[in-house]
Amino acid sequence: MNATDLPRELIHPPLLSAGELLAAVRTVAQGPLARQAEAIDRGHYPKSLLRELAGLGAMSAHLDTATGPGDYGAAIRAMAEVSRVCGATGFMMWCQAVCGLYLQQSGNPALTSEVLQRHINGSALGGTALSNPMKTYAQIESLLLKATPVAGGYRVSGTLPWVSNLGPDQYCGAVAAVDGGEQPSSHEVMFLLRCDAPGVEMRECPSFSGMEGTGTYGLRLKDCFIGTDDIIACPTKPFIVGIRAAFVMLQCGMAVGVTQGAIDTMWAVEAQLGHVNQFLEDRPDALQAELDGLNQRVMKLAETPFDSSTEFFIDVLDARAHGAELCLRAAQSALMHQGARGYLLSSEVQRRVRESHFVAIVTPAIKHLRKEIARLSTEEMPA
Ligand SMILES: Cc1cc2nc3c(=O)[nH]c(=O)nc-3n(C[C@H](O)[C@H](O)[C@H](O)COP(=O)(O)OP(=O)(O)OC[C@H]3O[C@@H](n4cnc5c(N)ncnc54)[C@H](O)[C@@H]3O)c2cc1C
Repeated sequence: MNATDLPRELIHPPLLSAGELLAAVRTVAQGPLARQAEAIDRGHYPKSLLRELAGLGAMSAHLDTATGPGDYGAAIRAMAEVSRVCGATGFMMWCQAVCGLYLQQSGNPALTSEVLQRHINGSALGGTALSNPMKTYAQIESLLLKATPVAGGYRVSGTLPWVSNLGPDQYCGAVAAVDGGEQPSSHEVMFLLRCDAPGVEMRECPSFSGMEGTGTYGLRLKDCFIGTDDIIACPTKPFIVGIRAAFVMLQCGMAVGVTQGAIDTMWAVEAQLGHVNQFLEDRPDALQAELDGLNQRVMKLAETPFDSSTEFFIDVLDARAHGAELCLRAAQSALMHQGARGYLLSSEVQRRVRESHFVAIVTPAIKHLRKEIARLSTEEMPA
């Protein structure tokens, strides 16, 4: 969608410049967020903090406005600033950011006006149930939701094991295979799934080793009606091909931020332990140089988030994989650098090890990224 096609009520420029946004996000991250990070790790869902960050424009900087296209670099930097302090909150920023992307790119006037406006200003929060579809398109698993066409929309049934940034009045973007009757399903439909819709049951998840405060639930749908007002895309493949690079690229903010947080904690013990830490691998100066290089690469990719070429997407997947691998190494090395103090249950260092594991397993996981890079290097997604 061009900025000029946007509904009139959305036509306003961001309140803050990219630099002002970053400074404001840093103040929130290093103040109230830092104080809540341990509670979030243990299960506190930081709804008011997410609203505050949304109010600054931290999860909508990438969206188009009347004055021009969105700024992906600013959105990624804001996410990194938060992830540096709390990876779980950085992940929820990503959930909110990609859900906003789905709404804006849907081109459905019922979603691009008030629904998107409330999403942008944080009065409504939502996530994304696209792990399963992304893995389906990468031929890793099959679609878990099935949609039957009915008058005015679809009836959708099935179960999604885990979707984050949810609450009883929240929502997520989801995809279902459209029932082809006697024939196998030929296409899919993408829609906004509201947790309070009749036929939707939110289920508590088993305890995770991290990310406990991310508002993650299982969703069970039984004949849930999805009307045309909530349709994001049908068919979905061209839509996904259009947004997939932006979807993956935004996650680099989490990887960069968690890595930076790990490096910070290595420097924190340098004066005291540098005399012995110098014998470790992955020292903070070396990791910082590698991270700065990755950051520069991501900022360059962020200039053209809708480049639809396969080469560009492979480059994005590769940067995301590098981010996940660097994040794992940095978190591990931070623990080596901090020793026993980093092993305390209250330490951000051991929390960050678990956050780095999540960066590596959340879709697209490292194994998924490598499979996609291998597949796309020889073939393109079927139209
Ligand atoms: C804390 C958390 C938050 C998440 N938030 C989201 C989200 O917001 N949106 C989203 O779409 N996805 C979400 N996911 C899913 C995530 O993105 C990945 O899909 C998931 O971690 C598995 O990815 P994988 O590629 O490693 O798959 P693998 O683990 O290799 O394989 C996954 C397959 O294993 C099966 N499986 C094995 N054990 C279990 C189990 N105990 N429960 C259920 N299935 C099982 C599933 O059927 C699935 O097909 C979340 C996961 C976690 C742990």
